[in-house]
Amino acid sequence: MTDYDNQLLRRAIIHAKAGEYDAARRYLTRALELADDRDTRVWANYWMSKVVEDPAQKRAFLEETLAYEPTHPEARRELAILDGVLKPQEIVNADALPAQSLQPQTAQADRFTCPKCGGRMVYAPDGRSLYCEFCTRNQTLSQRAVEQERDFILTMATVQGHYASVAVKTLFCEGCGAQFVLPPQEMTGECAYCGSNHVVRGDGQLLQPDSILPMRLNQRQAVQVLVSWVESQGLRPARKVQPPRGMYLPLWTFDIAGVIPWSGYIVRTQRNAGLAEQREFVQGEKDIFFDDILVPGAPKLAGLVLKLADSFETNQAVPYDARYLAGWPAELPQMSLAQASLEARQQAAHRARSLIQRDFPDQAISNLSYSTARLSIATFKLLLVPLWLTILPIEESEYRLLIDGVKGNVYCEMPPRGLRGVFRQMFGF
Ligand SMILES: [Zn+2]
Ligand SMILES: [Zn+2]
Repeated sequence: MTDYDNQLLRRAIIHAKAGEYDAARRYLTRALELADDRDTRVWANYWMSKVVEDPAQKRAFLEETLAYEPTHPEARRELAILDGVLKPQEIVNADALPAQSLQPQTAQADRFTCPKCGGRMVYAPDGRSLYCEFCTRNQTLSQRAVEQERDFILTMATVQGHYASVAVKTLFCEGCGAQFVLPPQEMTGECAYCGSNHVVRGDGQLLQPDSILPMRLNQRQAVQVLVSWVESQGLRPARKVQPPRGMYLPLWTFDIAGVIPWSGYIVRTQRNAGLAEQREFVQGEKDIFFDDILVPGAPKLAGLVLKLADSFETNQAVPYDARYLAGWPAELPQMSLAQASLEARQQAAHRARSLIQRDFPDQAISNLSYSTARLSIATFKLLLVPLWLTILPIEESEYRLLIDGVKGNVYCEMPPRGLRGVFRQMFGF
């Protein structure tokens, strides 16, 4: 039988592209009858969905496509359009998107002022309230249910999947009528004239965060954490340490699933035959599912933030609410969802490598090769995480020190004590 079903499929596609739907349907019907492999079934069903008129039939063929290949991007996109989840006018051709404009852009923002005295409202790092800096009036934030993660394929079909925040933003203060600007990466700012707190809103082009881990440490607590960490390490800072600065940074999380076909060699040394080595070819398919692979969204502190990754319990995040940012610096992602997803795939491949090796506890696999083509990103989330940052001057060097704003875990980029002596000898610092 071999390739006959495929020839039928190819002919059907030529007819479909030429708008000859009757002919296409005939070839596809025959191809589906004869199909003897998964790929042919997937694509014959998918093309059937394009050449039938009736929405119910369209849906049936799309669902059939997805039954064979649950992550089929085109089928999911078409089904989302049928369901009205995705509007056809929102869909973009990623290869033909215009470069993002670097011209300043007007942005919408939420402004937080006290309903009683008009004073400035600030988020109190207690996980649940805003307070007025003047009359101390309190406003409690209601905790809503945990939000859904977002569908990756659907977002990638829109402009939001491909743009990052690259332009200066112009904000209009509703309080005093002044205009002020924010650098591209900043998500929050004070009006330069009346000092009120503003938080930029997401728009058609830029993704808004989905969830946030609310700040739980106040500055006094952050200082305490810093002091006791420095003491526990027996360090003596070379001069006064600046109090840590609180902020929120963006973190992408991705759920990745699929199959990784792999192959390699294991080397066995045969005892009887002296030291002769025997290379044995091994191969397999590894099913993987990685929950919440993290990719820092801002270049600033990117490497350092990942060191604290374990201390962020992403399942503790609450739905994003701009009020958590009132009075706190916060950054927007500087890379698009598309770019971030490539990094997530690399991380997944890297982890898969060690999983495959783990199945052979006694032998090292050499020349391991594998493909990530059948991995797909199911869902993603843009998360804001709270951090405190300061610089630690030790001897002649300065090291950045991060404290996670939820649990107070510390990470400092300073090499461990023993190593520092080595570095000093080797590099003279
Ligand atoms: Zn007030
Ligand atoms: Zn103002």
